[in-house]
Order: sequence, then C-alpha cells, then structure tokens
Amino acid sequence: MNIVERGRAFLHSLRDLANRGAWEWRRCPRCGDTLTQRWGSYTRHPWFLDGRQTVVVPRHFCTLCRRTYSEQSALLVRGGWYAREVRRCAIDHWQHVGSSVRKTAEHLRSLLGHQERWLLWRPLDPAPSEEDRCHLSPSSVERWLDQAGHRAQETVPDQLAAVPSSGQLATDGLWARLRGKATKVVLLLADGVSGVIWPPVVADGEETPAAWHRLVERAEKAGLVLREIRGVTSDGATGLEAYLARSLAWVSHQRCIFHLWRGLAGEIAARVNAAATGMIGEAAKAAKRHAREEIVGAVRAVLDAPTHRAAQHAFERLHAQSWGKDLARLLDAHLDGALTHLLDYNQGLVRTNPEWLWRDFRLRLGHGRNQGSDLRLERSALLFAVYHNFEPAQERSERKRSYRHPGLCPLAMAGVPPNGITYLDALSV
Ligand SMILES: [Zn+2]
Repeated sequence: MNIVERGRAFLHSLRDLANRGAWEWRRCPRCGDTLTQRWGSYTRHPWFLDGRQTVVVPRHFCTLCRRTYSEQSALLVRGGWYAREVRRCAIDHWQHVGSSVRKTAEHLRSLLGHQERWLLWRPLDPAPSEEDRCHLSPSSVERWLDQAGHRAQETVPDQLAAVPSSGQLATDGLWARLRGKATKVVLLLADGVSGVIWPPVVADGEETPAAWHRLVERAEKAGLVLREIRGVTSDGATGLEAYLARSLAWVSHQRCIFHLWRGLAGEIAARVNAAATGMIGEAAKAAKRHAREEIVGAVRAVLDAPTHRAAQHAFERLHAQSWGKDLARLLDAHLDGALTHLLDYNQGLVRTNPEWLWRDFRLRLGHGRNQGSDLRLERSALLFAVYHNFEPAQERSERKRSYRHPGLCPLAMAGVPPNGITYLDALSV
C-alpha cells in the first residue's frame, strides 16, 4: 500500500468504528461470536478540543472467551487522556504552524482548559479552578510527534509506490546540531517537477558515496525506479558525484547554478576591483559598477544560455576578454554540469538545489536541537516529508516567491491526488 492508500484505509477504519451500531458491538472482537452479554460500563474523562468530557464506555462479556471487552470509539485513542482530535491538532500545530513543542502544548492547554493564553484572548473570563485546568505537557506532544515519526518510518516500504516520477530529481543536505554538539546532515531527494520528496535519511556527512547510496536505496524501497532516473541536481557534494558515476551511470548531473555563482563570487569581486585600480571616489565607483555589469553579464550569458551552442559562443567571448581568462577557467570545469538541464534527456531538471524545501523543515526543527538523537532527527524528517507531499502549495504568491502550482500538493502534481486524505490519516494518528 502506498501512503495515500494507507491513509484511505485508516480513514475507512475510523468511519467503520464510528458507524458501528449496538448490534455489531454484540459480536466479540476476539472470537467473532455473538454469545455475549452487556457487562456494565466504566466512565472516562478525556480532553477534547472543546474541553473535558465524560464518556461512558459500555462493556460486554463473551461467554465463549470468558472475557470482557469494551466498546472502542473513533474519537478516542485507547488508554489516552486526550482525544484523537487533540493529538491531531498538536501534531498539526507543530508541523504546519511551526511553533516549538513547548508553545504547542501551551496553546492547546489554553484552548482546552480556557486558561493561560485564553485569558489574554477573553480578559473577562474567570480563570478555571485547579481541578478544571488542563495539564498537557510538552513531553506528551513530543511523544505524539515521535509516534507519528515512527509511523512515517513504518510507511517507507512502498510509501510512494505507483507515484509517477519525472526522473528529474534534486538533492540537498541540511546540517543539524544535535544534543551533545554532534552534527548530522539530513539528506533529501525531491522530484524536480512534482516536488514529491522521497523518504530522507540522516548521515554523518555529504562527502561519502555511502551516505548517498543509503538515500537512493531508501527511495528505491519507497518505490522509485532507479532505471527511470535521468538527472540529479546537486550543489556539487563530492560523495554524490562519486556515487552517481559508480552506481547510476545513466544519470546526468546538474550543478546547482546558485552554488556555481557563489563559487565565482571571489574572482568576480577581484576583477571588479581591478577595473578601478588607480581611481578614487565617484570615478572608482562608476568604473566598478560598469565592470560588474559587464562581467556578470558575460558569465550570465554562459550559464543562462538557451542552447549549448549559445553557451559555447558566450564562453568563447568570455575567454577572449582580458579579464575573463580566470573566470573562464573556473567555469570550464563545471560547464557541462551547469548546462545539463538543456539536454533533451533532462527536460524538467531544475537548475538549483531545492534549498527552499528546508525553509518549512527548519521552522520546526530549531536547527535540530530539539532532536536528541540522529534517529529522532530522521523520524522528524520522515514525518516532514509525508506532510510536505500531502500539503497543497499556497494559493497566493508571497512577496519573495511565487508558487508554481498554487493549491496543488506534490502528490497531486505527480498524478496521485490524495482526494481528501491528509497526512494525519496517512500516519494513522
Ligand atoms: Zn469471544
């Protein structure tokens, strides 16, 4: 079952549970017989989003099994003090709104118990008495999040089975500092066209091929057909290049354009300064401005060329300039990698790393400091990936970036719309 089917099955099981009539509860869940009788009931006081409720749980006795069983509710989680909706709200608050675990717990306590922040929102309300207060702790929220992370981990096999891949992928790594000062990197593989993220891994570094091998191996487990990969975009992590060359020889490699620009920045600055040698004041400023426009324009003509031929011509023009020799030399080493996306074989390959993906992840992570261990970091990355794949892009454009496919989630972009199934269903919360 892929992740959408899992979500659908979970939602069905909840609906089934909710629709079970008194007659169906007479059937013993262990042996399936109906030789049962009512066996009293017990009372519980779980917290719901609108406060604490009293729930009467009827019990039955099976004469065959000689044991009792109690009726289950779709709204409650067995053995929990908090209803399912509270858990789902907590996870969503942390994952979607992006606050700390501590503030998530505070916000929920305020809503549930009409205490703390609630009294800021409704200053005329009386504070609740001590026994009516909600005591949801940050560690409970943390536990629910980690449980969701465990679920995400369990869904890795076939998670994205039958989800079409464009074959044009992009990778990136995010460094996180864990408790005890250990640093780890979360490695991620995303589809450049649909935006679907394959299940990430946590590694010690980006330099070894083994780390990238694990990432690709996990994606394969989740349903990626390696033979269908055509291109991978990266910032030039050496481990990835070595891994691709050795294990995925049919895959072309696109160097991230931003990173190439960053690599050229020093040389460009040196040339710009050289252009103003011996000048001062306004004259120097004007000379620098002019030189920068000329140099950046010449490099851009190479990197942004619409065809390989145009890039070659632009490269020759750059090389012919008195100031362009060193830039051309620096660029030469990466020219093929910079222009991979122009190949027919690599239509749809992105030119930049999916660094923007981390924006959503970072917000939640506190740079990884919340995560005590690398296993926990990995679980929270796996949870994030599932959330991301189900989450529609924003409808509106923000000031700094516009969304290519507003209102559609990556899974829908890939051709597998979740149709009302959410990431919380997919993770059986
Ligand atoms: Zn029975």
